[in-house]
Amino acid sequence: MTTLSAELEQEQIVDVHEKFYEFVRSFRDRNGSYKYRERIKQMITMGQKSLIIDYNDLYLFDNRLARLLIEKPDEVLQQASEAVKEIVLHEAPDYAESIDRFYVRIRALPRVVPLRRLRSEYLGKLVMLEGILVRTTPVKEKIVKARFMHCTREHGCHKFDWPPEGELVGDILERPPACPVCGSSSGTFRLLPEESKLIDWQRIVLQERPEEVPPGQLPRSIEVVLQDELVDSARPGDRVSIVGIVRVRPDSISKKRAVYDLYIEANHIEVSQKILEEVVITREDEERIRALAKDPWVRKRIIASIAPAIYGHWDIKEAIALALFGGVPKVTEDGVRIRGDIHVLIVGDPGTAKSQLLQYAARIAPRGIYTTGKGATAAGLTAAVIRDKTTGEYYLEAGALVLADGGVAAIDEIDKMRDEDRVAIHEAMEQQTVSIAKAGIVAKLNARTTVIAAGNPKFGRYLTNRTLADNINLPVTILSRFDLIFILKDRPSPEEDRKLARHVLEVHRETERIKPEIDPSLLKKYISYARRYIRPRLTPEASKLIEDFYVEMRRMSSENPEGPIAITARQLEALIRLAEAHAKMALRTEVTREDAEAAIRLMKTFLESSGMDIESGRIDIDVIMTGKPRSKQEKLTRIMEIIEELESESEEGCARLREIQKRAASEGIESSLVEEAIRSFRRDGIIYEKSLGCYAIVR
Ligand SMILES: [Zn+2]
Ligand SMILES: [Zn+2]
Repeated sequence: MTTLSAELEQEQIVDVHEKFYEFVRSFRDRNGSYKYRERIKQMITMGQKSLIIDYNDLYLFDNRLARLLIEKPDEVLQQASEAVKEIVLHEAPDYAESIDRFYVRIRALPRVVPLRRLRSEYLGKLVMLEGILVRTTPVKEKIVKARFMHCTREHGCHKFDWPPEGELVGDILERPPACPVCGSSSGTFRLLPEESKLIDWQRIVLQERPEEVPPGQLPRSIEVVLQDELVDSARPGDRVSIVGIVRVRPDSISKKRAVYDLYIEANHIEVSQKILEEVVITREDEERIRALAKDPWVRKRIIASIAPAIYGHWDIKEAIALALFGGVPKVTEDGVRIRGDIHVLIVGDPGTAKSQLLQYAARIAPRGIYTTGKGATAAGLTAAVIRDKTTGEYYLEAGALVLADGGVAAIDEIDKMRDEDRVAIHEAMEQQTVSIAKAGIVAKLNARTTVIAAGNPKFGRYLTNRTLADNINLPVTILSRFDLIFILKDRPSPEEDRKLARHVLEVHRETERIKPEIDPSLLKKYISYARRYIRPRLTPEASKLIEDFYVEMRRMSSENPEGPIAITARQLEALIRLAEAHAKMALRTEVTREDAEAAIRLMKTFLESSGMDIESGRIDIDVIMTGKPRSKQEKLTRIMEIIEELESESEEGCARLREIQKRAASEGIESSLVEEAIRSFRRDGIIYEKSLGCYAIVR
């Protein structure tokens, strides 16, 4: 079998230098203009040194040359670069002299090699890869032409450049086998870094996009080396398309010379601007989407399509649907960005359907990522500066919220997030950026990401007589970033149990029947269509309704002089976002009264389910968030702590009722309340009677 390059060499039909020169001088695009002559002029006026070529143009001009470029990129690019220098010499001799090396960069190869398929068969060839940039090292300097000092007894000391011709290929510099000046291989060779020619050099890691990773598998990644102008041209979290040459280097872990790692030396890198274009919507899709939106029941059908195997929880499914569509981001007159993303938190007893809801949400969201609070990698939820164990170098790695930029991060067990994320997640959720400054790396990454999160109650079960802040291991500052918070309780109720049992049995008996209302692939397209094109505006009617609700809530709280502010501007912004998302769900461009009502209803559900002050019966956002009620709740919390204290102090591992009452009384808590608390803790399954009159906590 003869390879293409062998065939081309045999026939000697390609003088690459001449062909390339001719291509740049004579190629005309569809409008008849000399595309690359113009680009060269532009390059000179802008003081640049790279000429970017569309692969398809080269192919149209001479398909053999284009194919040779794929097969032998080192040779072809070298010759092409010299041809460009020659052309610039004609146009602007002074400029040509001032530039060491011109680059020819190739964009848009006809085929993308999936990261999973990259094998040694591509070695030395030009490939195009797509993925997310997950990691970058600081910029370093690499030697492209080394200067050595050679000293021998016979000839004394003298300097020479290495390699004698051209520049170093790859990133390994070895001692020259012999001196090109005196021809001797003995004596001492000393590298002179200050006199060597250096270029900027950076290592990055490209990873498969989350939506490409087969279910249940880890994403694959590959190292890419950026040099010269390409350095720092993309940031972690960017979705990029890279054209480069496949190379090998000794495997850094095994240190065995026979084991090699593939890496890419980038020739060209493009950052994808249109973040939602990844979900391809055809003309037929658009027709189906438009038809679906005309259905007066479209919202109900969308909500019913979210995790259809899970019974009930309509409010939570509606909240998830609204988060998937999102509100409209805005910039105020003084330049403050107001997010359009709707963040939703579900706090629930173990065994409830939280994880399934989250996984489903990530599946139908454009750029959806499902992760846990701990994060899938060392970068966690936001970003981290990490030290590579084998090379010792520091690098910046993007976490889940940065990788899901422009999409949705479904975070399970958010209460288990790393301490670093607890600090950084505020900025990510409100300003939608992640800033990091550590070990000489300073960066600000985009995280325009919707957060749909779930957490477990701190005490194993949700305690109704405690505040939300008490119930979940998250600071108030993070809780207040969520637009909606729901509590998912697993409380016995014969009626509900029967319905649930029937539903579960039905799901197992007949999976056909619970097919979602709308097929997930169509729903995903519908959602990205809405996110891409629909920007609904508030009608005066809807504004009035939201305003009235807000003012009324503020008034109610101000009537109680010792009460805190019941509702804040945060909830007002949330209401607007929710109403906008509700309009987007039906692809409508106006936010109507109906949309405002839906937003208010969900907000009330959230406030009532989590923030009702037991004694006053009043909705109290401050109680929800700060967890500082001045009343019965505080005492109940204290009683729980007393039980915990006594249990750990006692030898039998339980707290005696009399002891609890004694300690409680010393703190001004009445005995009748202790009895009531114990009844309620037992009912909630928090404590049990270990031996007669002695209580222990269920663990
Ligand atoms: Zn020539
Ligand atoms: Zn020598």
